[in-house]
Amino acid sequence: MVTIQSVEPGSPAEKCGLLPGDILLSVNENDIADVLDYRYYITETKLSLLVHRGPELLRFSIRKREYDDIGLIFETYLMDQKHTCRNRCLFCFIDQNPRGMRPTVYFKDDDSRLSFLLGNYITLTNLSESDIDRIIKMRLSPVNISVHTTNPALRCKMMQNKNAGKVLSYLKKLADAGIAINAQIVLCKGLNDKEELDRTLSDLTSYRPALASVAVVPAGLTKHREGLYPLEPFSKEDAAAVIAQVNAFGDEMLKKEGSRLVFPSDEFYLKAEIPFPGEEYYEGYPQLENGVGMIASMRGEFEESIAFLSEDYDLSRPIRCSIATGYAAFGFISELVSLLKERCPNLSCTVYPIENRFFGEHITVAGLICGCDLLEQLRGKDLGDFLAIPEVMLRDEKDRFLDDTTLEELEKKLGLPIRLSPSTGEDFIRTLLG
Ligand code: SF4
Repeated sequence: MVTIQSVEPGSPAEKCGLLPGDILLSVNENDIADVLDYRYYITETKLSLLVHRGPELLRFSIRKREYDDIGLIFETYLMDQKHTCRNRCLFCFIDQNPRGMRPTVYFKDDDSRLSFLLGNYITLTNLSESDIDRIIKMRLSPVNISVHTTNPALRCKMMQNKNAGKVLSYLKKLADAGIAINAQIVLCKGLNDKEELDRTLSDLTSYRPALASVAVVPAGLTKHREGLYPLEPFSKEDAAAVIAQVNAFGDEMLKKEGSRLVFPSDEFYLKAEIPFPGEEYYEGYPQLENGVGMIASMRGEFEESIAFLSEDYDLSRPIRCSIATGYAAFGFISELVSLLKERCPNLSCTVYPIENRFFGEHITVAGLICGCDLLEQLRGKDLGDFLAIPEVMLRDEKDRFLDDTTLEELEKKLGLPIRLSPSTGEDFIRTLLG
């Protein structure tokens, strides 16, 4: 049962007489609890909606084309509360935030609906058999799952949840039903790496062909770990060993099945200072959103776009600007700027690596740089006529950084406009030259 917030003018819902404030109970006799029920059941061509209007129970009929929307708008995207996580993972990034940030920063979601709708990763620990049955019935595919390890006892330990081991059985149920699975392993040194990683990768292959890809990403460790499980960061040598281990497994899979299946995240390559593989290695980038292949993809797009620069831009125009990024991508971004300068002789652009003092030295990715660090480390520097930053530094609404500094505030304090660069090679060029 969900309350209708508004009805789109001219829509089938408005034409049949539905009103804001009506409470939707069912569609074609199927109870509606959330957005997935709603989206699934309104795909039919003939709909019968049961609605509460005050004390009255009303029925409305709608005829429409298959898959057409009917024009109802609900209060929240999910039409329900977000499901929270029931784990206390030893490596949880949220627990490593400093105190005093906005409350939403501390919210831990673990919601299968967001996995399907937005690509979020879920742990399966707050799902029942009937939730899994619903995923199968609705063919919600792919599902993105944080596996971490297939060793049940170790999974319970890592996630501090006594159910974390037994819910691994859901993997088989989903795979047997043909639901595609993208898996993620957050790697923690001394816990699920080395032999445990071999075991996990080998166990996961039993879910082929449903298992589509596996990303291995390092646990992010901030300086705010007082009272938390003692985890160590991966060193340069450790990162190289992880890459070698994952790639040895991937090479085998490639020979056997024609797909390497498992990919180390970009962070491992950056840490190990090992050159990135080419675009073909990533097999269409199945885990790009998870930081796997971002750099290779950006480089590929950049190289393609730079070939046609003179068609789209005035290359002789003088441009003075600067870029701020994390230490991890500093070398790569500097390289792109050098290539661009070869084509644009009047481009003057300085790249500034920003140390993450807010979260600590081990956090080097651009996406976790905060406004306070940008301000402290860029104030007084020659930044040119504008500063470009990767848009991933800002939260989804693109208005503020993780530490709550707003973009507007930073522009005012640095005294220049800031341009946001999406993470594609073409957009990178457009941000600087456009
Ligand atoms: S699942 Fe684990 S890592 Fe994710 S929010 Fe919950 S405790 Fe944190």
